[in-house]
Amino acid sequence: MRIATGGILHETSTFSPVPTLMEDWETGIGLLRGQALLDNMRGVNWGTWGFMQVAEREGIELLPLLWTFAYPAGPTPADVYETLVTELIERLKTALPVDGVLLELHGAGVAEGIDCMETDQLRRVREVVGPDVPIMAVLDIHCNISPGMVELADALVIYENYPHTDIAARGVECAEVMVKTLRGARPTMAHRHLPMRWAAARQVTAHPPMNGVIERLHALKARPDVLTASVHTGFDLADLPFTGAGVVVVTDNDPALARQLADEFGDWLWSERATWQADLPTPEAALDIIETAGRYPAILADQYDNTGGGAPGDSTTVLRLFRERGLKDAAILYMADPEVALAAHAAGVGATITVDVGAKASPLQGDPVRMTLRVEAINDGVSRYDGPMYAGGTAHLGPSAHLVEDGLHLIVVSGRMQPLDLAFSRDLGLDCRQMRYLGIKSAVHFRSGFEAIAGNIINVGAPSVHDPQTITYRRLPRPFYPLDEV
Ligand SMILES: [Zn+2]
Repeated sequence: MRIATGGILHETSTFSPVPTLMEDWETGIGLLRGQALLDNMRGVNWGTWGFMQVAEREGIELLPLLWTFAYPAGPTPADVYETLVTELIERLKTALPVDGVLLELHGAGVAEGIDCMETDQLRRVREVVGPDVPIMAVLDIHCNISPGMVELADALVIYENYPHTDIAARGVECAEVMVKTLRGARPTMAHRHLPMRWAAARQVTAHPPMNGVIERLHALKARPDVLTASVHTGFDLADLPFTGAGVVVVTDNDPALARQLADEFGDWLWSERATWQADLPTPEAALDIIETAGRYPAILADQYDNTGGGAPGDSTTVLRLFRERGLKDAAILYMADPEVALAAHAAGVGATITVDVGAKASPLQGDPVRMTLRVEAINDGVSRYDGPMYAGGTAHLGPSAHLVEDGLHLIVVSGRMQPLDLAFSRDLGLDCRQMRYLGIKSAVHFRSGFEAIAGNIINVGAPSVHDPQTITYRRLPRPFYPLDEV
């Protein structure tokens, strides 16, 4: 059996002023072609590694096409996306004939003029392989599923875990559904769309209320008549007509049952919709809570300047607060400010620089903070992850620096990636375990590496381009909960 694999993955914020350019695809997690895709994925927590494990076990020839992941940001220009997808499709044509196609996708990719990169990739792949070759895809739990995706794919398998520690495991699951299909199963898929927001703070797999959702999902998946089933929490930083959460159920040749099960699960999620919402304290209020509790290191998780959701990562609210309160052994991870990183590189280790930090991407990110900082360390931003999420993978954050002003540490980066573990800061000489206060620009993924060392974690909401208070939707399906009464 011959199965082609590849995919263009992006989580696109249509509210981010920062476009996703070709250089972002080339860096990010990487732009991998042909055999280099399989070589780089071995043992790493991506869906492709899951596909590889099943292929090796089952004696399937896996044909690697093209795979690329740019860090979340604004839409990619039309010509950049076209260049990437054209190469993916040309490589697929060269790989023919194939018995199946396993795509690794995100599910929230937007290019200029293309609302859904995933629908577009599925459509182009379908045009090449025809109606009878199964196409299946792994998606992030933060996907928005368009009607076209459900029509064009034979099965969709979505991460269960947030932090996403199960990406490779879902790749295994998806490839196993493919193998069953090639041996005679007939996947029939239904999707129930739920027009609602699902706060990141209510999606942590290990904690209530999300653990209850996953328990219920596992019961559904355990049914012998279900090939696979998934819940997605959606990505509401994309202003699109199909934005929202939902449920996918794939049965074996029983479309009515798939429809019924997706609707039953969807009805329950909808009836509980208030449970998936969160009111976030301001950073000021969070610090008060932290000091009262007295458990350190204490983490303020900046939900709206989460670079993992495509935010610019240069909001200054938490930095300003730490400074105003005169906090020592405090650190901001990571401040995305290439200008400051380059100034640090130009000055060199041991030098002192006076610079305006942050708030350069948009006025909504606050005001820059003038600081006089000592350059503790600099590097090129290339670092090996060592935490549960991407252990063995490589971060590419461009020129980076560890800067200090009076006990307040900044890890300044040029790229935009949320902290996932302690390795990147450690490479720059900052031991996060020794800090009392950590301001982290991440909604949930930081927990994979930081929850084990944290005395306290408080999710905070602060002004940013992603602050729901200042976002204006134009294309969202209405009514949309909780923006509208339903
Ligand atoms: Zn995600």
